[in-house]
Order: sequence, then C-alpha cells, then structure tokens
Amino acid sequence: MNLEREPAAATADIGLEMPAITTMGVVGAGQMGNGIAHVAALAGLSVTMIDVNPAALEKAMTTIARNMDRQVARKIITPEDKEAALARIRTATDYAAFAECDLVIEAATEKEEIKRAIFKSLTPHLKPGCLIASNTSSISITRLAATTDRPEKFIGMHFMNPVPVMKLVELIRGIATDEPTFQAIQALATRLGKTTAVAEDYPAFIVNRILVPMINEAVYAIYEGVGSVSAIDTAMRLGANHPMGPLELADLVGLDTCLSVMQVLHEGLADTKYRPCPLLVKYVEAGWLGRKTGRGFYDYSQTPPRPTR
Ligand code: NAD
Repeated sequence: MNLEREPAAATADIGLEMPAITTMGVVGAGQMGNGIAHVAALAGLSVTMIDVNPAALEKAMTTIARNMDRQVARKIITPEDKEAALARIRTATDYAAFAECDLVIEAATEKEEIKRAIFKSLTPHLKPGCLIASNTSSISITRLAATTDRPEKFIGMHFMNPVPVMKLVELIRGIATDEPTFQAIQALATRLGKTTAVAEDYPAFIVNRILVPMINEAVYAIYEGVGSVSAIDTAMRLGANHPMGPLELADLVGLDTCLSVMQVLHEGLADTKYRPCPLLVKYVEAGWLGRKTGRGFYDYSQTPPRPTR
C-alpha cells in the first residue's frame, strides 16, 4: 500500500484544487465507525478514532481485527495487509488528536443534538483545509454544516452497514458544499472500493427514505397482528426475494437508528404516512435495540436467534 502523501490534484472541469486525503479522523467507534476505520486503513489511510465511551474504542479495535481475520480467511486480503492496516489505526479521547487530519467523518449516535455538540467541540482542533463528512442516515447536511466554521467543506458521506461488505456510499451535498470537497470525497469513496450514488439533501436521502418506511411498515404488521416476526421475514425473503427480512434488517441497523430516521422523516416531510410505529418506540424504550444489545425482534442469546414475537 502506498502511504506517500499524494499531491493535490487539479479538479479538471472547474480548475480548482481537490484536497488530497491521507489522514482521517472518525468520531464514534460503533458499528459504522469501526467499519469506516477498517476500510480506510486497508486503503492506506492513517486513521484516528474517537468515542465518548472508552469501552467502545476497545471493542471497535477487537471487531476490526476479527473482521479482517475473516477477510484473510477468504483470501480477500493477506495477513500482511491486515497487520499493516491495524498499525495505521489509533484511538484517542481528545479532538486534539485530529490536528493533522485531512478529513474527519462523524459516525456518532443518530441524534441531532449529539452531532451538533460534536461539531462545535471538534472544529477548533482542525487545520483550515480539513474536510468534514457526516455518516448521518437522515439528518439535514445543510443544517449540520451550518454548525461548523466551514459549511463549504462539509458533506454527507453515507456508508452502508456492514461497511467492509456493502458497496454503496451515498453522497449528499449541503447547500454550501463546494465542488472540490465533493470531488475529493467521491474520489475517496472510489479509492475505498465503493460505488457512489448522489442524493439531494432531503430527509433520509435515497436509501433510507425507501428502506426505513418499509421496516416501519413491517413493525406495523406485527403490531396489527398481520403476521409473526418469522412469518413477516420469511414472506419478504422468499416472496420479494430480499436477502434479509425487514425485521432481521432492523435488528442489524439498530432499532434506535430506525426510530430516529422515522422521526426525521415524520418531522421533515410533515406527512402522517411516516409516523413511527408505537411498537418500534416501545422496543427502543426497553433498550431492545437489535443485535448491538443482544435483543430486538430476535433474541441473539440463542442460536439460531429466536423471534421475540
Ligand atoms: P452505534 O450505536 O453502533 O455507535 C454510535 C457510537 O457513537 C457509540 O460508540 C457511541 O458511544 C458514540 N458516541 C455517542 N456520542 C458521542 C460523542 N458525543 N462523541 C463521540 N462518540 C459518541 O451506531 P451506528 O450504527 O454506528 O451509527 C452511527 C451513525 O451512522 C449514525 O448517524 C447512523 O444513523 C449512521 N448509520 C448507521 C447505519 C446502520 O445500519 N447502523 C448505516 C448507515 C449510517
């Protein structure tokens, strides 16, 4: 892997400088943050991960090593690639560690007030040219960008879960995002082996505008007694040829994230067709958030996981 800093490339069509990205910060070391760090380190970037919860950082490093072991076993990467990539990831607890970053990607909990507070604390530590991306599933990029000192260098870079496996990255320009920032992030996504789809900055963008209401509808189908968890998932796997049923998928995404996306759609588009199902709300209130907490629509303490309804 080539770790040399690449010279800034000219953005051909507009003649502006596209910033080179070799050093990346990641805020939030949960399911998405650890996946983003994983693919970036394998592509040769130096990565620093920060989380409010030190246990999350430790868990993220273990998860990354385990997921890379799987890739070694499948001969997708070599053991040397794995060791070199792991050596490029470090963890930190203070934003001062982001001083040299060319890009910071925020992948913290899907709550606007949390993200706003992060951007406020983060920006004073960044060099002037550092780009900022949010991996938000639904929140307005324009609004998040406005909380920073550099809305023109701010963009939505929405990875899919699990990041090392899923090919898509959605790119979302805020109203102020400039062309060099867009070009640099699109080039980075390509370098990470991803295909991009460009979405306008409307609530939940493309993938989640379509996917999460389907998940919410599946929860309504349980709530109204149309079918059990396994009947609904079997129906959609075999009847619609989906690789996973909507409730398995909800558990993979995280029910808290699904609920937050529905709330953003409901408030942002002011249409009652997006109202979150009360059963989804109840599961989140119970702390049954899916795979990440061991229980959601399935109980993961059993093998195979047992439907909870
Ligand atoms: P997660 O719950 O697994 O991880 C979130 C992490 O953020 C946790 O480790 C938490 O400790 C940390 N965090 C919370 N507040 C913080 C703060 N102030 N500073 C630093 N770290 C903080 O959630 P996730 O599934 O990784 O989701 C993260 C983001 O990615 C969300 O915006 C979500 O919408 C988005 N996303 C999720 C998926 C998915 O399928 N789960 C897919 C695409 C995008």
